[in-house]
Amino acid sequence: MLINVLSKVNHFSLKTKLLLSFTIIVFSLVLVTIYVTQSVAVTHSKRILQENIRVSNVVVHEHVNDTAKVVHKAATNLSSDFSLKSLILNAKTDSASLNVAMNNFSSRFNTSDFAVLSAQGEIIVNSVGFSSLSIDKLDELKGEKGGWLYINDSFYLSVAVPVKNTPLSRNAMAYLVFAKPIERVFNQDLATLSNLNVAVYANLPNMPEQVVSSTLDLDFAQHVLKRRSLIENDLYTSSFDQVNYYGAIKTLAEQPSLQLYLMLFTEEEKVFLSYTALLKNVIVLLAIASIIALIFALVLSQTISSPLLKLSQVAQKIGEGEHSINIPCGNTKEVNRLADAIFQMNYKITKRNTEIQKLAFVDDLTELPNRTAFYEFVNQRLSESVKVPLALILIDIAKFTDINDAIGYQSADLLLNQIAQRLAKHFADKLMVIRMAGNQFAILIDNNKDIEKTVTEVTECLHSPFSIDDLRIAINQKIGCAHIDTNISDARSLAQAADIALKVAKGGYSSYVIFDESLNLYDSHKLALMSELGNITQNGQLTLHYQPQLCLEKNKVENVECLARWIHPEFGFVPPDVFIELAEHSGQIKAITRFVITRAIEQHSHWRSLGYDIVMAVNISTIDLSDKHFSEFVHDTLIKHNVSADKLIIEVTESAAMEEPELALQCLSSLSEIGIKLSIDDFGTGYSSMAQLKKMPVNELKIDKAFVLNLAKDTEDQSIVATFIALAKNLNLATVAEGVEDQASLDLLKQMGCTYAQGYHISRPLSENAIIEWFKSDTNINLVAQQEVN
Ligand code: C2E
Ligand code: CA
Ligand code: CA
Repeated sequence: MLINVLSKVNHFSLKTKLLLSFTIIVFSLVLVTIYVTQSVAVTHSKRILQENIRVSNVVVHEHVNDTAKVVHKAATNLSSDFSLKSLILNAKTDSASLNVAMNNFSSRFNTSDFAVLSAQGEIIVNSVGFSSLSIDKLDELKGEKGGWLYINDSFYLSVAVPVKNTPLSRNAMAYLVFAKPIERVFNQDLATLSNLNVAVYANLPNMPEQVVSSTLDLDFAQHVLKRRSLIENDLYTSSFDQVNYYGAIKTLAEQPSLQLYLMLFTEEEKVFLSYTALLKNVIVLLAIASIIALIFALVLSQTISSPLLKLSQVAQKIGEGEHSINIPCGNTKEVNRLADAIFQMNYKITKRNTEIQKLAFVDDLTELPNRTAFYEFVNQRLSESVKVPLALILIDIAKFTDINDAIGYQSADLLLNQIAQRLAKHFADKLMVIRMAGNQFAILIDNNKDIEKTVTEVTECLHSPFSIDDLRIAINQKIGCAHIDTNISDARSLAQAADIALKVAKGGYSSYVIFDESLNLYDSHKLALMSELGNITQNGQLTLHYQPQLCLEKNKVENVECLARWIHPEFGFVPPDVFIELAEHSGQIKAITRFVITRAIEQHSHWRSLGYDIVMAVNISTIDLSDKHFSEFVHDTLIKHNVSADKLIIEVTESAAMEEPELALQCLSSLSEIGIKLSIDDFGTGYSSMAQLKKMPVNELKIDKAFVLNLAKDTEDQSIVATFIALAKNLNLATVAEGVEDQASLDLLKQMGCTYAQGYHISRPLSENAIIEWFKSDTNINLVAQQEVN
């Protein structure tokens, strides 16, 4: 239960606790004060009562003694009166005269009864009630204070004096006794004198205690007496008629024959009168003090709790992540210290948050915002309005690995830093300059119409070389751009699109590419392949397969087409159409073409050494046509391997040749000049104009397999192919039909006068080893001329 209460108290607010504590303290003080006041007042009142009792006892005793003394004095005077003595002596004969005289004296002495006794103790005369007085009781009455007599159910204060013949006589001749009934001794005067109620009770042998006189009603006094009980020392309490009385018992007379006691008492109200009044005053004072204390407690708790409450609200807000808030000052040292602690805490949290923010959003090296910051910013902007024409210009510093290797990591870091500073300074008016990755920076602009202008500015900005440790370093960059539109609606897609554009730019000639939907063909798988393309010419993943071409007239294999093969360690066979296209876009195609040409020429030499004289047909792509050094390269390679130019056929697709006819013409002319044969691949799929075709130094038309695959069955194909062959003959060109899958087609082609046939029916493209086996098994392979062998 106590624990229950305590746990509830723990949930109280500070204000309530303070108020509660104050209230408890104030009420405890009130109770203690009342208790102390009461006990002090009670003790005090009792002491006053005891003092009153003592005084009243003295007063009563003195009153009794005085009364007795007055009678004693008068009686002593009377005892020497001569006429009384003669009346006593003559009493045997005339007792009536003595009786009259004594009656007179008795009323003069204000006593009610009297008696005259002889020396032997016989009663000579007596008042009415005093007939049975015996001599043996006289001793108890002799002193000036007299004594008490109990005669005929009544108590008397009595005085006895001897009557002597002469003052010197030793023996008394008679005794005078005067008595006053007790009720006349304890009259109302005594009550006023003593200021306590007085009751006298007797303790007679074989009789109950009996009140014999009182300043109050006898019956009433008897009840009080009977109900008394001792409370402490000689103090008694008693109650009657719903009134409490306090008092004490004192001895009035202790004579051998009787004992009389005084009961001095008064009403409780009178005893504790001063105490009750005092208590009332104390309670009033305490009530006022309590109210003042409570008001004070209320004010105090308010002054302490209200700043604490405010501080706790502040702490709660800090907890909720609000840090830019005013921390209120307290009005006490302790509260101020708490406010200070909260301030410090808030400061440290804010500082740590800033550091965390910095770590999360700022690039360590360049202090530029990082990719995460870019995502945050763009998404925030886009959430405000969808139609923000945001555009991203992603800049890739070319060949940074080489720069790293050349100048070392530390200097390369310095270079990155300088690039960052230059961009940040130059494009300070743009939305953001970001470090996206190691050697990639980006500029975020808010107007997609400015993309090309910004790209030009970037090129200009990065044009002048950088100075690192006395070195002047010029850099090149490729740029991919993208902007927010219906398909690119968030930061990640924007970065991804710019990245695709960048990859495409890296593969092409132009220094920058702006993303459009067509580039989206580059799914993640293709992009992954793209990133690995750069290595395949070195890591042995790129090989050549060879597909024989049969000379239909001679029924002999004179040529093979070299077809590139990429077996990816993870993805397996990657179709050449796929990776060639990727290589064209990623800039790797030139390396691949050179690899293929080199391998083809090497292979030709090798086969020649084995006795086979095979013309190697290789495929080149549009991009190779723009390579000014291409023919030079081919020429050098032929010379290097001592292979004559007519052993090489270069296939260019019809569409490539027609895309950039000028470039194609230039390139093909220089190749032709060397003596290399040229073949127009996939003929029939493009829209070559005959006029242009005529201009080209071409040797051969390679009819696309689309027209050949179903040749035997498809008469339309037959007439097309026949037309192509006739056209070629007209132009004095050889023809190759690729995609020959059956004998019927082969026969048809022979009939039509086609020069060469290539296809699965003759042989699939074969690996280096497989084709040697194939050569060996077929006798119709063009062999090296005998004289040449010698
Ligand atoms: P292409 O130059 O037209 O090569 C002929 C393609 O037809 C080859 O496909 C070959 O395997 C396939 N073929 C030959 N006979 C038949 C047949 O009877 N039936 C069928 N269905 N197909 C036949 P491949 O090797 O997959 O090459 C596809 C394309 O990849 C080539 O078409 C060429 O454009 C390109 N390519 C291959 N290697 C190179 C290369 O070294 N350089 C360049 N630039 N392109 C290459
Ligand atoms: Ca080809
Ligand atoms: Ca072809």
